[in-house]
Amino acid sequence: MHTPDSPLTVAAALKRARAQGLDRLDAQLLLLHALGRAGQDRAWLLAHDTDALSADAQDRFAALLTRRAAGEPLAYLTGQREFFGLNLAVDARVLIPRPDTETLVTWTLELLPPAPQGTASPTRPQRLLDLGTGSGAIALALKAQRPQLEVHALDQSEAALAVARANADRLGLTIDFRHGNWLDGVRERYQLIVANPPYIADTDPHLAALRHEPLRALSAGPDGLRDLRTIIASAARCLEPAGWLLLEHGYDQARSVCTLLEAAGFGQVQSRADLAGIARCSGGQRSGRG
Ligand code: GLN
Repeated sequence: MHTPDSPLTVAAALKRARAQGLDRLDAQLLLLHALGRAGQDRAWLLAHDTDALSADAQDRFAALLTRRAAGEPLAYLTGQREFFGLNLAVDARVLIPRPDTETLVTWTLELLPPAPQGTASPTRPQRLLDLGTGSGAIALALKAQRPQLEVHALDQSEAALAVARANADRLGLTIDFRHGNWLDGVRERYQLIVANPPYIADTDPHLAALRHEPLRALSAGPDGLRDLRTIIASAARCLEPAGWLLLEHGYDQARSVCTLLEAAGFGQVQSRADLAGIARCSGGQRSGRG
């Protein structure tokens, strides 16, 4: 609580937050947020370290520190998270985009080479489906990188779709959003289907640390493979011949996911590692015609 006769300076507020156990970056980002400033403004804090905080700013900062100490993720407190160079609005309706998921985006982009400068776009636009889009992170990153691509993005949660739509509007990116349960009712065919579905086992102790995020975006049955199985079993029907299905999964699921893909008739089955060197995504190409 603030004491009006001894105003807290920027430097003292940061020091106090550090003393409460916050790391330096979190303390800086929360203070900027309490001051109504952007996260990119960290230099401002240095230049203004002797400025006194208003009583309101002190109260806002104290409230944010309390929430952070209770384990609420920084991205929910500031309401934003950067993903693949895009600033996305996030809140408790959606999973917070992880850097690991950039692996899925990078792999997808490799399969979608940009049209060379000056050439006409392909006669038939390439079409991609992002399943379980959440905040829209994957769909928006791909659309930003490949503006010619027709991107459809689906989620079972209307609340998540509202977040994703707002992100698309703010970023000026056109995505065709749909409400649905994985591939049930999907009639189009796609060159690419990508997904970061829930993949954590119901009994995994890590879920406790993720308790502020939507459980339905995280947990997937006793072995964490429930949704991956559903998607793999139904994807071929919605892929063009030679279309690709790329999936993010848990750190120890690459072998199971590759086995499921092979059993479903996919060819070229392979995995890609995340920034920590862990096989984090697996995918395959639809084989056969029709
Ligand atoms: N990568 C997330 C985590 O382990 C989980 C995301 C997911 O289930 N799709 O924190």
